[in-house]
Parts: sequence; structure tokens; C-alpha cells
Amino acid sequence: MARRWLKGNTHTHTQYSDGDSPPEVAVDWYEAHGYDFLFLTDHNVLIPDDHLAKLQRPSMPVWQGEEVTMAAVHVNGLGVSTQIVPPWPGRSMYEAEVTHSHDHRVRWAVEQILAQGAVAHVNHPNYLFTLTADDLMAAGEFGLLEIANGHPGVNNQGNDTYDATEVIWDKLLTAGGQIWGVASDDAHHFQTWRGWLQVEADSARVGDVLDALRGGRFYCSSGLALGGYEASSAEISLELADGAATIELIGPGGTVLETISGERAHFRLSAAGAYARVRATAANGRQLWTQPVFR
Ligand SMILES: [Zn+2]
Ligand SMILES: [Zn+2]
Repeated sequence: MARRWLKGNTHTHTQYSDGDSPPEVAVDWYEAHGYDFLFLTDHNVLIPDDHLAKLQRPSMPVWQGEEVTMAAVHVNGLGVSTQIVPPWPGRSMYEAEVTHSHDHRVRWAVEQILAQGAVAHVNHPNYLFTLTADDLMAAGEFGLLEIANGHPGVNNQGNDTYDATEVIWDKLLTAGGQIWGVASDDAHHFQTWRGWLQVEADSARVGDVLDALRGGRFYCSSGLALGGYEASSAEISLELADGAATIELIGPGGTVLETISGERAHFRLSAAGAYARVRATAANGRQLWTQPVFR
């Protein structure tokens, strides 16, 4: 079956928690901007089924999610059907009220999410600089990690003391983790920087999209799109849809192995090491990130 690329956001807030808008406004925005699917992920709450049914749009299914929120440690459950209630304070940011370590909380949330057949993604590790690469390594395999989150307070770029989120991703990959990178809006206000996924799924049904997320059949973007992409363990070829950018091949340790300026790139991976991935950056700063190819 021919697969199609679906544009979707996996991290969205509404007035069911701390978003500034009712779900109808959020859904309208994504529908008007050409999205193919949307997960609503409020903090520790699910949208009631009868309300979710009314939010469906002909061209854009709207799916249940939950941002499992344990003080500053947040893990999204995509496709959950039963509310997950953490035994730790949720909306409070006071770590003193939480008696379990960061990695313990991530592991707990991931277990709850996977037990429902849903997909977990660990959110904004640098929110309050909460989750380090060491914390995430201690948490075990969790699947997906936000490397680019549109909320203004999440420190994607790190600082002098803390790694950028993309550096954290490379540390996990270098240590042998199989982690897919995610870009999301974490939209609360509907007029900010945006991040989304382009998912190569068999259909726009939730099960097929979750399968594609589990399998890493997607890329993440903060403004760039692929016109074509072919990858194997031996080579990666890609074409950008919107003109030239700086296209980098990245390998273990986050090392940039090769840089090409242009609209297309063909990389041979013979010298790449255990994994390789591609990042493209346009002159205006917009980026895309493909998933790692393991060798
Ligand atoms: Zn969060
Ligand atoms: Zn959020």
C-alpha cells in the first residue's frame, strides 16, 4: 500500500488544563493550517468522549492524548483511552513535594502509557532543566523524545551548564538508545513558533499513525519540508521542498560528518559509525530533523 505523509501535532493544550482557548479554537486553528491529525494533550486530564466526538473534522481526526505531568517531568501519552493519574503532584512545580527521582517518574509514566497500547513521548527535557541525558538513560527505553518544543519556556538550546535538547538526543543515540526525535507546538496560545511531525503512515487512522510513530517513520520540522527521502543502512538521499538550506549529516556524539548547501543531498554512510541522521537549517533558522538510521 502506498504510504502518505501526514502532518500532525502531538502536543496541544486547551482550557481543559492551562491552554487559553477551548478545544474548538485549537482544532479550528490546526484544520485551517492544513494539518492531517491532531492530538489534544492536556495536563493529567482527558477530553470527555462525547466532546472529543464533536471535535472531529472531515479532513482532520482529533485524537485523545494526555500530558502526564509529575511536577516538572512531563510525558505525553498518545492514543490513551484511560486517564493516567500520577501519584505525585501534577501542576505544582515544587520538586520538594515529589519524592521520586526524575528517571523513576519517566519510567512510571511510560509504563502506564505503553500498558494502554499508546505511544509515549518524553517532553521538553530542558523545562526548568529537569531531565538530563543521564536521567533519560536511567529511565530505560521510552521511544520518543521532544527535541524541539514551541513553548517559550523550555530551553531547547540549553545554556552554559545544560545540554541543548538535540545534544541530549545524540548522547542517548550514542549510548545505543533507539530514540525518535519529535518537534511539537506544546501550543497554549496559538501564535507562537511551531513544530510538527510529518508521519509516513498507511492511512490517517490512529492505529496506523501510532505504528508509524513507534517505527520512526516520520520526521520533525520547525518550518522545512522534505520533497523526497530515501534511507537505508548504507545511504541517505533527500530533497528539500522549499529551496536550499544547510544539510548536515550527524553521527555518534553529535558529530557533523558532512555538510552540503543546496536543495538535495546524497550521503554514503560507510564511515558514519553506529547511527546517522540529517538536519537541515534554512537561512531564516527554520529546521527539519530526520530520524536516525542505525547501522
Ligand atoms: Zn509540559
Ligand atoms: Zn504541554
